Amino acid sequence: MNLILQVTSTNPRLSLSQLLSQPLGLDVWEVKSDYLVLRAAEPQAERLRRMGYRVEQLELTDAFLSTFATAEAIAGYHSAASLEQDLRQLAAGRPEIVELREIGRSVENRPIWALRIAERRRSTRKVLFLGCHHAREWVAIEVPYRLAEYLVNHADQNPVQQWLTQGEIWVAPMVNPDGHEFSRTEDRLWRKNRRPNPDGSFGVDPNRNYGYMWGTLDVSTSSQVPSDETYVGPHAFSEPETRAVRDLIARELFRGVITYHSFSQLILYPWGYTAQPITEPDDHNLMVTLAYQMQKLIYDVQDHTYTPQQSSQLYPTAGDTTDWTYGIYQIPSFTVELRPQTIDEGGFILPPNQIQPTWEENQPAALEFIHRVL
Ligand SMILES: [Zn+2]
Repeated sequence: MNLILQVTSTNPRLSLSQLLSQPLGLDVWEVKSDYLVLRAAEPQAERLRRMGYRVEQLELTDAFLSTFATAEAIAGYHSAASLEQDLRQLAAGRPEIVELREIGRSVENRPIWALRIAERRRSTRKVLFLGCHHAREWVAIEVPYRLAEYLVNHADQNPVQQWLTQGEIWVAPMVNPDGHEFSRTEDRLWRKNRRPNPDGSFGVDPNRNYGYMWGTLDVSTSSQVPSDETYVGPHAFSEPETRAVRDLIARELFRGVITYHSFSQLILYPWGYTAQPITEPDDHNLMVTLAYQMQKLIYDVQDHTYTPQQSSQLYPTAGDTTDWTYGIYQIPSFTVELRPQTIDEGGFILPPNQIQPTWEENQPAALEFIHRVL
């Protein structure tokens, strides 16, 4: 996977969505209406050319890494250890409203943490924010972490105070700590968890391992091949990381979920496994309305556009988090793809000076989500 490629098509009978509907083992980075950006090896590039696509090499993966994955870019983000430390500190500072819970352990036995932010009494009104299913999507830790920090620091002011009286806000900023650690120390572009697979490869894609319509697709973006970036795993919930989230949700029965990813600036709602929209009109209306409302709130901060769309319009995925949370619990469920918009701006390797503005623009949307679903 040493090449970063831009793929276009001038042949109307050879569409880009057709390309995405085949099992080609590509690492798809950007899906725009008129081009794709993906990471691939030379034989895959050759194959695409033979199929009739126009394939242009944007960069070598190594050159891309040396441009963006600088020491400064690493230092600006949390590690699993520094996140744990900061979460502990947050909980220790306000023990009456913040509780740190270990919700499970990863393949390599790292704890997966969630903060419960609420007054002590139990409530049935709960909302959940998740981060970092995908190891390389580092800003997807920082946004939910800063949300937790914001809620704790504003716990004595409305509307946060009122929310914490009437409900519970849960934040799990790093679902995939093993993969994340590996992306810090070994391979900045690592995506999956660190499950050893029978074929000698590593990793299951945690965001394809949830148990709703699991494994019903076999395409580049939801693959049955263990060495592929989007390998769905041997069965639904085969991974301890997804089981941790499954069990948390089964226990707490949240009213809504946002899961943060990067990049592309999108607000995705179910379904991912089918091009058909949600059939329940009230649910569909609620999610589309909320998605457009969040788009506006995000845009109003710094004029950055996050495009609302059905998840499958980006590309087909079976077994993702939000198909499962909506499919099983019928709760509003969104995948927010954070900054940047394109690979020219760093793609998965968002410069650390972008963390704060990314959080700032997502703050009102996250608060609106809490307000609406709690
Ligand atoms: Zn992701």
